[in-house]
This record gives sequence, structure tokens and C-alpha cells, in this order.
Amino acid sequence: MKVLLNIQDKFNEQLPADPILENSRRQVKNACFSYVVPKKPSNPELIHVSPEMAKAIGVEDAVNSEGFVKIFSGSEIMPKTSPYAMCYGGHQFGNWAGQLGDGRAINLFEVTHQNNNWALQLKGAGETPYSRTADGLAVLRSSIREYLCSEAMYHLGVPTTRALSLMLSGDQVLRDVMYDGNPAYEKGAIVSRAAASFIRFGNFEILAAQQATSTLKNLVDYTINNHYAHLGKPSKETYLKFFKEVAVRSKEMVIHWQRVGFVHGVMNTDNMSILGLTIDYGPYGWLEDYDKGWTPNTTDRTNKRYRYGTQPQIVLWNLLQLANALYPLIEKAEPLQDILTEYQEEVEVAYYEMMTAKLGLLNTDAADQKLVNELEEILELSETDMTIFFRNLSNFSKDKATDGLSIIADALYVPEEIQGEIKEKWQVWFGKYAQRLQLEAATAEERAIQMNRVNPKYVLRNYMAQLAIDAAEKGDYGLIDELFNLLKKPYDEQPEAEKWFAKRPDWARNKVGCSMLSCSS
Ligand code: AMP
Ligand code: MG
Repeated sequence: MKVLLNIQDKFNEQLPADPILENSRRQVKNACFSYVVPKKPSNPELIHVSPEMAKAIGVEDAVNSEGFVKIFSGSEIMPKTSPYAMCYGGHQFGNWAGQLGDGRAINLFEVTHQNNNWALQLKGAGETPYSRTADGLAVLRSSIREYLCSEAMYHLGVPTTRALSLMLSGDQVLRDVMYDGNPAYEKGAIVSRAAASFIRFGNFEILAAQQATSTLKNLVDYTINNHYAHLGKPSKETYLKFFKEVAVRSKEMVIHWQRVGFVHGVMNTDNMSILGLTIDYGPYGWLEDYDKGWTPNTTDRTNKRYRYGTQPQIVLWNLLQLANALYPLIEKAEPLQDILTEYQEEVEVAYYEMMTAKLGLLNTDAADQKLVNELEEILELSETDMTIFFRNLSNFSKDKATDGLSIIADALYVPEEIQGEIKEKWQVWFGKYAQRLQLEAATAEERAIQMNRVNPKYVLRNYMAQLAIDAAEKGDYGLIDELFNLLKKPYDEQPEAEKWFAKRPDWARNKVGCSMLSCSS
């Protein structure tokens, strides 16, 4: 069966290309991308397809065809398309890193279907001019993690890039997982992913750093015309509106992360989408124990720059870098600064709105912030599972405050610790919470329904992804499919899947891949 797609390329049609066509590592100046073709995989094999995403781009009937495997493994190029790698820079861990670019992502084409535009790219499809010292490839474990998590995030209602397919390349890839001098061969894999656009803050930063102001203007105008057209024709005023909306979308994204307990792990500006999408699933992790200081990324172990609790502040820092990049087009610092100040105020308000919604409180006021702060303090006193805690809290009754601890008991990793002062603090807090609930008009049932819409029951716990990886390494893809389907309905009760609504098992506490992840992927 032929794969039919309504291809409507724009990025590579409307923006300046790197004139050099050879696939060699280089510094690219004054261009938005370089043409490059994917490496032919030696034996591509389809592992999984997202039916929702296949439908979104109109290929649901072709997913089992040979043509689908060829196109989305990079072994065949669709006629009349010109694949390319984007040029971008970025601030990595707080420092300007210069040119980065799509080192192992290759954009295939853009598709229009049902009034939506999708850019499709392959991750792990071989070297590009931006591969620097690396090989342009991806291994199975990191590809499973990106594939499962991007679709899970979508179903959680978190803005994200999507995943269409997961394939084995048939090639072996050498990786030193913990950077300890023990490299080993792993199975190579390719994820095809989709988004309205993969443009990052770093795409603007690199052009600003090169003082390529006219190309920078091209890119900003392109982004506005194609993705922020509702803001009006590009002008200095529109650029400010554009920056404001990027700030608002990034705020919404990070507040969703805090709500579901997602820690990105590498919030460098090259991993910040201009559309406010969660992008580049690397050493991310899900909070099990509620701990604002937690990061799954071992590369960030010392400074913990990208720990859970600082994510909203890091977005601000990243927005500042974007503001600097846009400055040459606006030439006034004050309005940009004002937007950053507004972000700071708004993100705090949004955070408390989100947290109070997690508690089932509707008409909130400043006093509720105290209730949230006190809860967070107690949650940090003893290892408590975030997902189970909030999900079970919907069973709390304002008339039985003394039952609070037993209702959330399943969330406690070290129940023995809940005694003395800690126990007392919990009891006091449950008492205040019960009192506060008296002010709510909703019935207990209504509140539970509302809470269960914002407090997921199922998330891709780190060890769950690792179990799927371990099985897949042995050729068993059943768990990938099981988790994929489970995570399509993260807010629903799924009685047959109760085993996934449980604390992290003890074996996973300090295991590589479960609590510790490196950037090696
Ligand atoms: P990340 O922090 O994973 O988003 O990656 C930072 C930069 O390194 C990006 O420019 C990536 O394209 C590049 N990169 C990461 N892994 C590889 C790889 N295996 N081969 C080539 N480039 C890579
Ligand atoms: Mg990246």
C-alpha cells in the first residue's frame, strides 16, 4: 500500500538554507537549516505505532505497509521532499554553548491534515552537519522512553511533541551509559515524532549570536505568520505580543509538569519549544517521592539546576535568553523586561491555582496558599508518593479528618516514620483541610470527580519504562503496548491495571534507568 500524505513543506521552502549540501560537521552561518538525508537503516523493524497520531496525519490505513516502515525509518525519502536538520544554538546548564542543532533529528516533511499542520522528524536517523562528535543515532532504551512518554503526556493534557512510530534500525550503537568507561553495543532505534513545529528558543539565539539580524527577522516573521498568525502582521509591537504569548505558553507547560510530577531533566534553551511544547525526552523522570530537590539526570547531580522545584524559575531564565535573542528586532529592553516580570507573578498565581485544584478547592484565596505550603512541607518530611497521595486524597471526607492518614497510607514509602512530630503535623494538616472543605459548595462526590481530573492515577513511573525496556531488549514488546494503552486514560480507574497504581518497588530505588538517568541516549 502506498503511503499518501498531504505534504505542504514550509520551513525549508520559506527560510534560508545552508548552501553547502555535503554532510560534514561544520559551523553554519546565517541559515536556518541544512539539507541532509537520513542514514539507511540496515534492517528496519516496526515495534509500535501510535494509532491516534497515525490518524492525525492521515496514515492510519498504511501503518502496516512496507512503505510506512521505509519512510518512517529513513530508508526511503518521499518524492518531492527535501529532508533537513535545523540549525540552533543554546544555553546548556546556564552557559552559552554556541551552535548545537539537530545532531540526530532529521526533519522529513510537513503534512496538512484535517486543518492541522504537522512537521515530522526522525530521531536517531544518522549524522547531520550538527552531530559534532556524536554519531547521530539513538538506542532502543531512550527511544522507548521518548515514544511512551510523549504520547502519555499528550493524554495527560500536557502540551507536548507527539510520537508516531518506534522502530528498530537493525544497527548496533555503542554507548557508555553511565559515562564510566564501560561502553557497550545496544540496539539502535528510530522514533518518528510530530509537532506543529520543532522550532526552539535556540533557533533564535544562534542567529542573534551571529548578529544575523535579517535572518533572525525572517525566522521570527515566519514563526509568527505560521504559528502565531492571530497576533497580526509582524511588527515591533507584534514581536512583543509574540514574546508574551511564548511566555504564557511556557508557563502553562511548566505548571502542567508540576501538576503531574514530571521532571524534564535538561531544560537547556535548545530544549525549549517556541510553541510551549514539552520537547526532547531525555533523562526525564516522574516524581515518586515528593521532593522538590529531585532530578533524575545524573549529569546534573551536583548542582541540580533542573530539579523539580526549580522548573518554573528555569523557564524564566530561559525566557530571558529568548528576550535577549529577540532584542535586536525590538530594540527596547523595558517591554521585554515587563513581560518577564509578569511571568514571575503569573507563574506563582498559576502554581497555587493548580495546587489548590489538586486539593479540590475551587473558590480559593490567599489563605489557601498557606494550606498548600504547609502540605508541601509535610510531604517532604517523609518519603511520600506524589501520584498516590493526590489520587487517594479524593477519598478524604471533611467529616472524618482523623481518617486522613489511613486514606493516604498507600503513598508512604516508610510508614514507620509517621509518628511523633510528623504524625502530629499530618493530623493538624488534615484537620485544617477538613475545615477548609466545609467552605466548598461541592458534594464529596463532585469534588472527587473534579480532583480525579487533575490528579492522574497512572503515570509513566521510571521503573515502568525500564521494565518495558528490559523486555524489549529481549524482543518482547508486549509491555510497550500495555503501557501505551494504559497511559491513554491516565485519569480513569482501570481496575485490571491496579498493579501500576503502586509505589515504586524497592528494587528500583537506586537502579540505573529508574532513579538515575544520564544524557547518554
Ligand atoms: P540534548 O541535550 O539531548 O537535547 O542534546 C543536545 C545536543 O546534542 C543537540 O544538538 C543534539 O542534537 C545533540 N546530540 C545528542 N545526542 C546526539 C547523538 N547521538 N548524535 C549527534 N548529536 C547528538
Ligand atoms: Mg535536545
